[in-house]
Amino acid sequence: MAYVALYRKFRPETFDEVKGQDAIVTTLKNQMKHDRLGHAYLFCGTRGTGKTSVAKILAKAVNCENPVDGSPCGECASCKRIATGSDVNVIEIDAASNNGVDNVRQIREGVQYPPADAKKTVYIIDEVHMLSMAAFNALLKTLEEPPSYVLFILATTELHKVPVTIKSRCQRYDFRRIDHTTIADRMQYILDEEGTKATREALEYIARAADGSMRDALSLLDQCVSYYLGEELTLDMALRATGAVNTDIFFSLEQGIVDDDTVKVMNLVSDVVWSGTELTRFTEDFCMFLRNVLFLKLSPEIQKTLDLPKETILSMRGLGEVIEEDMLLREINVLREVQQELRLSSLKRITLEMGILRLMRPEMDKDLEGVLNRLIRLENRADGAAEEIGNIKKELADQEGEIENLKENGVTIQSVSADLGKGYSQDNPSVEREAEDMITKLSPEEQEKEYTDRLLQYYSSDVAEKIKEVAGNWNSTVSKFTGITRRALSGAKAYPEENQDGRVVGILIIAKKIDSVPQNDLFDREGEELVSAEIMRITGVSVKCRIVFEGDDGAKGAKRGLGFTNVNFPIEHK
Ligand SMILES: [Zn+2]
Repeated sequence: MAYVALYRKFRPETFDEVKGQDAIVTTLKNQMKHDRLGHAYLFCGTRGTGKTSVAKILAKAVNCENPVDGSPCGECASCKRIATGSDVNVIEIDAASNNGVDNVRQIREGVQYPPADAKKTVYIIDEVHMLSMAAFNALLKTLEEPPSYVLFILATTELHKVPVTIKSRCQRYDFRRIDHTTIADRMQYILDEEGTKATREALEYIARAADGSMRDALSLLDQCVSYYLGEELTLDMALRATGAVNTDIFFSLEQGIVDDDTVKVMNLVSDVVWSGTELTRFTEDFCMFLRNVLFLKLSPEIQKTLDLPKETILSMRGLGEVIEEDMLLREINVLREVQQELRLSSLKRITLEMGILRLMRPEMDKDLEGVLNRLIRLENRADGAAEEIGNIKKELADQEGEIENLKENGVTIQSVSADLGKGYSQDNPSVEREAEDMITKLSPEEQEKEYTDRLLQYYSSDVAEKIKEVAGNWNSTVSKFTGITRRALSGAKAYPEENQDGRVVGILIIAKKIDSVPQNDLFDREGEELVSAEIMRITGVSVKCRIVFEGDDGAKGAKRGLGFTNVNFPIEHK
């Protein structure tokens, strides 16, 4: 018999079998049981989180002859037809390859006739964000007043590309990344069914590597199990099968960097290269490792959300004690850049080696951050570095002089000076406080992500410069926007938005009222996300946007803010 991939073989058949999306499943089950289904659903979320599975279950459930607790029975003629893909009343469309107006026109013609032998005709449109603007417009008319016997289920991994007009006509369900315990439990269940063994550690590792995607997790599991057919799968095997490296190497590598032991470090990198490890992945993992060390250093409490073995946590704490916070942040930033470069590089080994050298030799970085780190390192080293320190201090003074010049020429450099002050004072309570505030509100996964994003964004002067550039070239950026966003924002002005510390935290867009264009959709979070996505697409810069109408006092915006407690009003830019 042909081998069937685990994720296909164990695709959920009923709502109860869907793991990690409890809120969505409960809502849909209740709607089914009380006959309160909507006519259009929009399922969004990252890949492998169950959107298509739930869509199929829902499609079966609405036409099932004997639904059980809102779920399809799986036994009746309709359920069986849908399972084999031979049911004419469930139409699956992949918008990635059927994205034109003609495809939507077919749907519009199809919905005119009620189904012959079923309650409803169900259209499942996968990757709906791929539809062309004209196709979306055509679909809109059908979504507005669909006949009662039609059910639309739209699925997308990229919500920001779905027009607001479509979103507002659908019931929207956000599929969350599935937490790794749930994924590991599901894998355990599947392995039990398959009669295969694995240690919990191995499953937890795979679950984490899959980053919230059940499908990715099961594909990785497939890969590991077939690699070591018939053996009990251990963490080490899972690491080898997925091409990842054990954290031991990260400890040695970072220790080598701290000790300034070039030979040791380059030997380790060479080992990694020869072991066939994928270097982009290696860099990501190293970055993640340093980020965990940083978290543990900033807040011991965070260990609850890290989910690492106890010994690893203890070793990470130990390592964190000998490294300055600023240095860790710089290393993380450098590695993020290296990781980006690796994606495009044809000389991956050299790119990685140069990146690691930058970690060891901050003097290779000519920016202020690099100089500061060099200073901190040297001051920490007792062995007669006075002369070198003198040189660096002079360099810093020169830089300050340059800043003064810039100031006289009317350039805003407030944030740079603030950075300098921060670096010297060593501790930075406001960052930690901000980070702690965050921690109380969100789920552990969200906390971790938010925490990293904020810290990195907060510290990266690079991002601030890029944001200023985007705001500075606003007209040309908007001219490249697509469809409604371009028209709605024509004549708008943009300003880099700073918080009270003078750090650039986003872009404030002041839009002009244009009577002929429906603009209201832009003035909510989704509209702002849409604009952020456009900026990202055109400039590659990730930035939060806040949109207000010209003449607004901004109170509405300030309330929503950019997540920072104090948002100042626009600084003038020249
Ligand atoms: Zn049935």
